[in-house]
Amino acid sequence: MPTKPRAPDNARLDRIVAEARRNQDARARTYREQALKLFPWICGRCAREFDRSNLRELTVHHRDHNHDNNPPDGSNWELLCVYCHDNEHSRELEARMGGGSPSRDDADAATHRPFADLADLLDKRRRGGG
Ligand SMILES: [Zn+2]
Ligand SMILES: [Zn+2]
Repeated sequence: MPTKPRAPDNARLDRIVAEARRNQDARARTYREQALKLFPWICGRCAREFDRSNLRELTVHHRDHNHDNNPPDGSNWELLCVYCHDNEHSRELEARMGGGSPSRDDADAATHRPFADLADLLDKRRRGGG
């Protein structure tokens, strides 16, 4: 069996992808380090405090969601724990998908009370003594 056939184009693509990823990593490391120097190691949402042992769970959020916008004064950065960071992004996603429609279920619950009459009935019976 000959060795695995190689596609030169794929290899080139792999290299480009790897390089892009490396650049992205390097950039991410840089702004993260800068942000960690600028700000106290506290989540901006839940105020959880971090130290070196769990620092990996503290992430840098971009306020304008543009990861290329990294002003050195940190005005576009916010330190968030991974959970709050997740929350932040899912909320943004919901807002973009046009959420916020009124809930029909809530309206129904307010007008339709299936047990109200029953409770009334039981109460009357108890008081009336049968
Ligand atoms: Zn948090
Ligand atoms: Zn973010």
